[in-house]
Amino acid sequence: MSPDEAFEQLMNGHQRFLTGSQQSNFNLETATSSTQVQGQNPLASVLTCSDSRAIPAFIFDMSFGDIFVVKTAGAIATETQIASLEFAVVQLNCPLIVVMGHTMCGAIGATMQHLEGHSPQSPNLLHLVEHISHLIEGQADDTTNAVQSSTIQTAKRLTKHSDIIARAVTNGEVKIVTCIYDLSTGQLNFLE
Ligand SMILES: [Zn+2]
Repeated sequence: MSPDEAFEQLMNGHQRFLTGSQQSNFNLETATSSTQVQGQNPLASVLTCSDSRAIPAFIFDMSFGDIFVVKTAGAIATETQIASLEFAVVQLNCPLIVVMGHTMCGAIGATMQHLEGHSPQSPNLLHLVEHISHLIEGQADDTTNAVQSSTIQTAKRLTKHSDIIARAVTNGEVKIVTCIYDLSTGQLNFLE
């Protein structure tokens, strides 16, 4: 499947989600069908926030085996997330990477508080907000701008820090798209 075909399928699924005409069956029979057990062949990877409301399979009306999901607070991409996406590109021939930030992101909010002088509660949290603070440089006065900046910068990191992903993008085997999921409307706002 080409990157554009994969994108079209995701968009069709998202339209079904928005119009309440979902087709996905999240039941045991579908999960354990012979097709699923034989192996996975996802049409897209989605890098998104750990937020419990940002659920790619529902937002794109996909089912078991359709989306390779990498979730982390703030939808960031450090070595382990990039390695996960490389696995999807090399081992699964996954043609599309969606970097999906979302409105009202707690991790972005925590980073903005950190920049205002409120210390995170652990060294691990500090590591996270310091990473995000680089992504939102110059945009930290407005949550919407900060989320957009963080999402765009994270997408750029994928090709900057991975030869595998950069090569696949250059060859046209993989496309990277960025979007913001709006928690209040369920809609996706594509960037760039
Ligand atoms: Zn979030």
